[in-house]
This record gives sequence, C-alpha cells and structure tokens, in this order.
Amino acid sequence: MSTNKRLVSALTKNSEEDFALERLIVTTKADSFLEWAKRWGQSNSLWPFPFGTACCAIEYMAVVGPKYDASRFGAEVVRFSPRQSDLMIIAGTITEKQAPILRRIYEQMADPKWVIAMGACASSGGFYRAYHVVQGVSRDIPVDIYIPGCPPTPEAVLQGIMQIQERIKKGVSSYADAQKIEEDELALSTLKAE
Ligand code: SF4
Repeated sequence: MSTNKRLVSALTKNSEEDFALERLIVTTKADSFLEWAKRWGQSNSLWPFPFGTACCAIEYMAVVGPKYDASRFGAEVVRFSPRQSDLMIIAGTITEKQAPILRRIYEQMADPKWVIAMGACASSGGFYRAYHVVQGVSRDIPVDIYIPGCPPTPEAVLQGIMQIQERIKKGVSSYADAQKIEEDELALSTLKAE
C-alpha cells in the first residue's frame, strides 16, 4: 500500500472511531442527564399516604400545615388513595386488626414506594406492650425510615422526608426493592447451582 493510501485509510479509521466515541459520550451524557432528571423529579414530588391512627397523625397535620409547610420539599400532595401515592407515613398505633389493612394498602401503592414509621408506636409498639398492638410495623411491611419520638417533632418528620429524598437522588433502592433484588439474586444463584 502506498504512503498516501495508508494515510487516507488511517484518517478514515480515526474519524470513524472519533465519531463512534462522540456518539457514545453524547449518549452517555443524555442517559445520565435523564436519570438525574428522573431522580430529581421523583425526589421533589413525593405523594404521601398518611396512615394516621392516633396522636402522631395530629402531629403530621402540623407538618403539612402553613408553619412547617411540607410543600417546601414537594411532599404536600397528601393522597388518601394508595394508587396515587408513593410514600406511606404510618403515624400512630397499629393494632393486630389493622395490620392486614395496612399491608393491603401498602401493596396497592405505586412502585417504587417508600415507607416512614413515624413515632414510637409505629416503630416498636411504643408503650403499648399488649397482645393486640403490633410491636413495630416492619413485621408486616418494609420500612425505610424510622422517626423516633412520642410524638416526633415536625422537624424530625421533615428530616425523615429529606432522608428519603437523598436516597432517591443517590439512586438507593427502597428497602422493599432491595429485598426483591436480593431474592432474585438468590433464586438465580440457586438455579445456577442446580
Ligand atoms: S408515638 Fe406517642 S404520640 Fe405517636 S401515636 Fe404513639 S402514643 Fe401517640
């Protein structure tokens, strides 16, 4: 091959590679931008479903009221339909009779979904050491954030919401999703072993 031909072929090859590289960079940038935009939008438009059963629910009302104003965090669109919600806030004591209802409502919520256990009662049964009270809702549904207190302050609830937002922005799976991924991986490794 003459020197000229070699030069032309090298130039063509380089330009093809450059073009492919440029496309890859543009595609990667577009992908990561879309992913960032999705997470940003999701984290700033949480739609809470308040499962309020007792005094903590009254405290939660203060969170969405004008003084603490949950809309500053994009989490004020309270919904009482699970199909329109992606953040369950359990505010109050949960009895054994309520547990199946809580579970059903959680299952009806849209994916991906998040759960906050607000206060001592939801997190651990609180001071109700009794046969009819659930000693922590994590027995029935996966919980992402526990907020301590009896009742927790509105500031603590806002911090819990902000922690959920941080997780979404970082792309951390909810506890329920992480459990599903773990189960899928376990099933896959069992299949491979067989
Ligand atoms: S944690 Fe305290 S304030 Fe909240 S529901 Fe239980 S008893 Fe009421």
